[in-house]
Amino acid sequence: MDSVKNKVLFILLDAFRHDYINSVDTPFLYTKTHKGIYAQKLKSVAGFTQRTAIYTGTIGAESGMFTMYTFDAENSPFRFLRDDPRFKKFSLEKHWWDEVLSSRLMERVRNVLDHRLEQKKRTYLNCIKKEVRNYTYHAPLAHIPLELLPEIGVSEDMRPIYLPGAFKEESIFDVFVRHNIEYEYLMYPVVDGDDSTTLEAFINKKDSDAKIILAQFSDSDVKIHHCGPSSPTRHEVTGEIDRKLREIAKHYDDDLSTWIVIGDHGMTDVIEELDVPALLAPLEKRMKVQMGRDYVFFLDSTMARFKWITKAGRAYLSEVTQLPILREKGRFIDEQIAHEHSIPINDRRYGDLIWWAHSGILLFPDYFHDRYTHNKGMHGYDSNHDDMKGFFLAFGSGITHRRLAQISLIDVCPTLCDLLEISYPQQNMGVSIFEK
Ligand SMILES: [Zn+2]
Repeated sequence: MDSVKNKVLFILLDAFRHDYINSVDTPFLYTKTHKGIYAQKLKSVAGFTQRTAIYTGTIGAESGMFTMYTFDAENSPFRFLRDDPRFKKFSLEKHWWDEVLSSRLMERVRNVLDHRLEQKKRTYLNCIKKEVRNYTYHAPLAHIPLELLPEIGVSEDMRPIYLPGAFKEESIFDVFVRHNIEYEYLMYPVVDGDDSTTLEAFINKKDSDAKIILAQFSDSDVKIHHCGPSSPTRHEVTGEIDRKLREIAKHYDDDLSTWIVIGDHGMTDVIEELDVPALLAPLEKRMKVQMGRDYVFFLDSTMARFKWITKAGRAYLSEVTQLPILREKGRFIDEQIAHEHSIPINDRRYGDLIWWAHSGILLFPDYFHDRYTHNKGMHGYDSNHDDMKGFFLAFGSGITHRRLAQISLIDVCPTLCDLLEISYPQQNMGVSIFEK
């Protein structure tokens, strides 16, 4: 590698699967795979915090950031709710009108009262959204049940991740600051989801003094969740991203910039939805336990994480592990699986019991989507599965053509450091592509 005196452009294509690149859909990227250093596959990390892996060079289990939300009553940004009388009112599952004897008139009254309560609750949730900003940088409510919020902590976004000191471990941003490297950060959550805005911002930065620009295009995630990777729409989505990259290339000369473009993970077609709370209901009734009182669960899209509160709740969780349907459609994380996938167990912030869906099985409902959204594509499954793999591509100034079969997501961090000729974050576990 020649020393790079110019700009490094790091562009993350969210959930852009390795096999989306071809001469028809993505001619710009395809051409570059024959000119740059191209790893056809990139293996992601388990969990949902890929940005942590990229910016610290560590896997989630090590960095204490395995899932976005944790069970963490002590540090919950929502703990202010506990002293709020409105919280108790809106958390109530039953209301006086539920108890009144049924009649047709009462039915109508009940609907009106339910509807009115629903509206008030929505207003209240908006208040919470504003209030929580006093306690953390970024904690979307998603669709977490209201009564669970004070138990929930956020792992990744207690502080803006692009500022020094945001991670427990040293991050690439800490290193940037130490080496006086100016950088521009155009990624989530600074630029949130709108790829046209990102493109515009990117082009506007071409004369900035930044040595590295970090940006993200999200349509490959957002839109393909919606349509599924096997749908014809997927080809249009990836084609549009390819056009945006070509547009950037018009403004950033290949001789004056080094590009790193990655798909941070893949996506697979949803085969089946699984209603976990409904599956658990009969067992819950039989064992006379109650969610919220004896145990709690958190529903990620591909994982159900349980934490017991009472002894009865603990006994219940051990029965849950025996449910045939859950054993058929997924697996419970044991020591061996945890080791193999670097999944943290024995850390109660992630729960006492983790069930992980097999590829293509989607938890519905979950705490990330409303009850009307049926996704056709999902990620967060076993990262050894080919559908879960992204890609890595480096081209431009200082790069000569070479192919690699596969790299890991954590290898991106030391690679960026090498390009900028700076030291790696202290806990980095990745290997730079220039060492491969
Ligand atoms: Zn996604």
